[in-house]
Order: sequence, then structure tokens, then C-alpha cells
Amino acid sequence: MLKIAYHPIYKYALPDGHRFPMEKYDILPEQLLYEGTIRDENFFRPHQAVEDELLLTHTEEYLHKLNTQTLTDKEIRRIGFPMTPTLVERGKYIARGTYKAALYAKEFGIAMNIAGGTHHSFADFGEGFCVFNDIAIAANLMLHRGEAQKILVIDLDVHQGNGTAHIFQEHNDVFTFSMHGAKNFPTRKEVSSLDIGLPDGTEDKAYLRELKHVLPAILQDFQPDFAFYQSGVDVIREDKLGRLSLTKAGCKERDRFTLQTLKDNGVPVAVSMGGGYAHRLADIIDCHANTYRLAQEIYF
Ligand SMILES: [Zn+2]
Repeated sequence: MLKIAYHPIYKYALPDGHRFPMEKYDILPEQLLYEGTIRDENFFRPHQAVEDELLLTHTEEYLHKLNTQTLTDKEIRRIGFPMTPTLVERGKYIARGTYKAALYAKEFGIAMNIAGGTHHSFADFGEGFCVFNDIAIAANLMLHRGEAQKILVIDLDVHQGNGTAHIFQEHNDVFTFSMHGAKNFPTRKEVSSLDIGLPDGTEDKAYLRELKHVLPAILQDFQPDFAFYQSGVDVIREDKLGRLSLTKAGCKERDRFTLQTLKDNGVPVAVSMGGGYAHRLADIIDCHANTYRLAQEIYF
């Protein structure tokens, strides 16, 4: 069964005028239910990650500042959302959702989180709409608890997974692979185990050629026993922030190839949602929904 982490707190109330597409965290599950891709029983409601779990990844000082709402204005602006206790709580639910999804993935081959992929969060600060790094938290927990030995992070969001890269830069048991827009945010890139920076305007053919060349080779060389997939859909040409030019079909093919390849290699995967900022909310939802449709098609 496809298990999917969801919590009502995922949709965080932003003040009027804030342009982040928070609606997607409600509309996506609704759409998936409505079209029959999933049923209510597919969802599970995570609880919050607790301090010990967060501290395997984040610093005590950063966590303390979040818990006591004492980040500086500059640190808050860097995150990009208005800071409230609810935003911090939300991040803890998302992180725990990704970890729990990872445990379900070990059982069922795949599991997903209707949020997360907050890859711009570093050990000691957040940026780019990311408070906690859910994938890093889940990966560190699995390693710590002996639930995985070698973890591959596949980050295909259009933005580099800079926080994740930095958190794991000294770790031999985590391979970070980020394929992203070379000219896109963040301007200062971190060093992943493998970075592929794509030129502005990259289309389906070049994108998929690169992915299909590289992913099987990583699996062959690194031999992971678990994978996280950050499936951001901000690679499509309709995206306001993306700068790449994939079609929606190309984005779907990206997901299909990634999931099928992991399945063929017997590597369980936990999928976190990642970014998506197309002008039309419908495009964002449709592309994210494709990832779930494919998960059902390929695995169940
Ligand atoms: Zn992104």
C-alpha cells in the first residue's frame, strides 16, 4: 500500500499578499482522492519530530532559537516565511513525516510525504522557505538507528540541495546527488557528492539524457540500501522561478525513470515533495500528482 504522510498543519496560513503556493498542500491530496489515485487509508498522520531526533542534524543553538522564537530579523528573512511557533511546529511534523515515510518505504518499496524536500535548511540556519531539513533529519535517524547503512539523496528540484549537501559533506554513508539550474538560487552552491548544473532553458531531451546516464551509474557505484527523492516540479517551463524548460510530460518522465530505476535496483525510496511555483496552481498540482500516480502505477 502507498503510504503518504499528511497533516493539516502542512498548509500554513500566510498573510495576504504572500505569493508562496501554500494551497498545494491541501489541493494535492484532495485531487488525488477525487481522481481515485489514492483513498483515505493511504494517508497517515505523523507526529512531531522530538528534540533528540532533530539534534542529529540541527544545532542546539538553531533549535533553541526556533523554539523560543528568537531568530534575528535577518535570519527570519532568509527563511522567507513570517516566523511563528506554528511554522516551527509545522517543520517538525514534516520532518517526522519524511522519517515515518522512510520506514514505510522499507516495507512497501516506496512511501511519500505531501510536503518536505526542504533542502535549503542547513544545520544551523534556514533559507529559501526551509526551516528544518526533513530529508537530512530522516537520513540521520535511519543511520543512527541502524535502519539504513548507505543512503542516496536524489534531489531533482530545480534549486541545488545546498543544505543537504553541506550537512552530509563529510559523510561517506550518504551520497548527495543534485541536478539543478546552474544559474538558479542559491547563487553560492555547496558541494554535493555529485552536482549537475544545467544551463537556463534546458529542455526534456537534454535533461532526461543526463539523468538516464547518471542515475544508473550512481546506483552501480555507490550501492545504496535506501534513497530519498526530492521531486520538486519547479523544472517545468511554466515555473516562475525555475529557468529550465521541461514540459509537464518531461517532468513526469523524469519521475517515471527515477522511480522505475530505484525499483529495478531494489532500493526503497521515500519521496519528499519539493518546490513548484508555476503561474497556474493547476500546473503545480498536476505535476506533483503525476509523481503519486506513477508511484501507484509502478509499485502497486
Ligand atoms: Zn526549488
